[in-house]
Amino acid sequence: MDCLFCNIASGKIPSKKVYEDDLCYAFYDIDPQAPTHFLVIPKAHIASVSAVTPENEAVVGHMFSVIAKLAQELGLDSYRVVSNIGEQAGQSVFHLHFHVLSGRDMTWPPG
Ligand code: 5GP
Ligand code: ZN
Repeated sequence: MDCLFCNIASGKIPSKKVYEDDLCYAFYDIDPQAPTHFLVIPKAHIASVSAVTPENEAVVGHMFSVIAKLAQELGLDSYRVVSNIGEQAGQSVFHLHFHVLSGRDMTWPPG
């Protein structure tokens, strides 16, 4: 399967890295929607939150501890974590990712 974010996680497609470990990869979004906008993805392919199961849930918890650590390191004291699931919700890449957005006022509810 040719997946854009699998190729980014493996380094086959270049990206601006924020963080990497054995389980996940974080990189700046190519089309930032806030002054700080990066994505955190698992290295193993998971299509979306809908494909999270008891077998792969540990990586999701790990991704959130990475988000907390990166936010602290980057000095983000207010930020939003977003995951779009399915086309109607705005998902355009079908490899699980958490958007981390910060540095501007946010509206609620999201559009
Ligand atoms: P989604 O629309 O699925 O919630 O989020 C996908 C995100 O991936 C979008 O914000 C889009 O700008 C970003 N994106 C798409 N292609 C690339 C790419 O090749 N490199 C990077 N760094 N980001 C990408
Ligand atoms: Zn993938």
